[in-house]
Amino acid sequence: VSSFDEASCLSRYQSYLYRRASLHKPSKYLISKLRNYEHVHRSCGPSTKSYNKIMRKGAKFSINETSRECKYLVWTSANGLGNRMITLVAAFLYAILTDRVLLVRYGADMIGLFCEPFPDSSWLLPKNSPCWEDLKHFETHESLLMNNKVNNSQDELLPPFLALNLTHIHVGHTNLFHCDRSQDLLQKIPVLILWSNQYFVPSLFMISLFRQDLSKMFPDKDTVFHHLGRYLFHPSNEAWKLIQKSYEAHLAKANERIGLQIRVFNIHHPPHQTIFNEIIACTLQNKLLPELDMLNSSATSPLKKQTSKAVLVVSLYSEYGEKLKTMYQENTTVTGDVIRVYQPSHEEHQNSNDDMHNIKAWTEIYLLSLCNALVTSPRSTFGYVAHSLGGLKPWILQGVYGKTIPDPPCQRAKYMEPCFQYPPEYDCRANKTIDFPSIFNHIKHCDDVSSGLRLVNDYH
Ligand code: GDP
Repeated sequence: VSSFDEASCLSRYQSYLYRRASLHKPSKYLISKLRNYEHVHRSCGPSTKSYNKIMRKGAKFSINETSRECKYLVWTSANGLGNRMITLVAAFLYAILTDRVLLVRYGADMIGLFCEPFPDSSWLLPKNSPCWEDLKHFETHESLLMNNKVNNSQDELLPPFLALNLTHIHVGHTNLFHCDRSQDLLQKIPVLILWSNQYFVPSLFMISLFRQDLSKMFPDKDTVFHHLGRYLFHPSNEAWKLIQKSYEAHLAKANERIGLQIRVFNIHHPPHQTIFNEIIACTLQNKLLPELDMLNSSATSPLKKQTSKAVLVVSLYSEYGEKLKTMYQENTTVTGDVIRVYQPSHEEHQNSNDDMHNIKAWTEIYLLSLCNALVTSPRSTFGYVAHSLGGLKPWILQGVYGKTIPDPPCQRAKYMEPCFQYPPEYDCRANKTIDFPSIFNHIKHCDDVSSGLRLVNDYH
């Protein structure tokens, strides 16, 4: 029987009060895989006999002992919180598929964000593990594959620790992770240390060894992040307090909550005003927000039922919230709806190695996921996490080039899954470049990144 300490993670028991129940039910098979994973984590996690054996022996561990022992996948952080959360989910799925135990190499900037996800154990990599060393000190999976040490008779040449680099710099022909033969090799390595900023889940669906298991786990492939993200990410008590406070004060009383996530990658171009105009065009055209009542006509129809809408503005810059607030404070709306605008923070700069900065980012991602509708920025993993956790299909703003607002200004996403922005392009069998959607009917290009890949449901 698994157990959690309720007081150490209040959000696990209280989130149902804030979040609508998911429309997507996890399959029975997924649930059994999760229970099984928890069991493996409990028996192989930090301070167990198996853990000590491998981690203490370090380089002296003989690879021949591996098949009977626990294996590990160590996650390391790269980029901002959105990137980190999408890679954590991808890593967790890879760990489930390969019977590895997922351990996270957290700096102080990540410690206070999430609760422990697995019962009766910890996912924090202990401080005395050799995996804390600089990744440069470990052999990489590319060099191993290139040197072609796949031959069984050479197993003793395999290192016990290996750096697995799945960052965006590995695209095209150098990314061989999705090849069956890479997996044959990787499964012999006791400890993989992952370094990634990509949602590499579509790669896992390309590997024949995993395909059957994945189809059973996810009859609806569009729900991988939604289910695993909700399973893994419970706000810590500190983050939960902030989420509750913001929600109660600014969002709870509204009939409808609209989230606007405005990520500007280059603050010089396009200007904030152009992006603001684009957002207004998007929200008005799609009736997410009402038009302003320039003629003051709604005052003449007092019988109309008023709804109140809370607009949650999430951005590094204060301009967006302020402009929108002024707009709806100084005008009435044609529908008579009352619009209240709330922007929790404006950090001005990305500062991903700071703990309070990350707590604010996590709080805002979570609040966005509680909205009824979302408008998100293209190419932003911050936005991906918010909409996937919320089970929402967002309106994605179009990229703006120059001063003209694109027509249409935004498009409704047809899916919930995050985009794998820099996917492989290499066909392992044919030894040439390939367009993966042409051979897999559950993989398509993303709407916001045309060279990216995403999972879709089979019946699409
Ligand atoms: P991406 O760069 O949009 O794909 O998202 P990431 O989350 O990986 O990196 C952006 C980081 O910048 C976030 O994790 C935050 O630290 C910060 N950031 C960006 N936009 C916002 C925002 O709207 N609110 C807050 N609080 N932080 C933000």
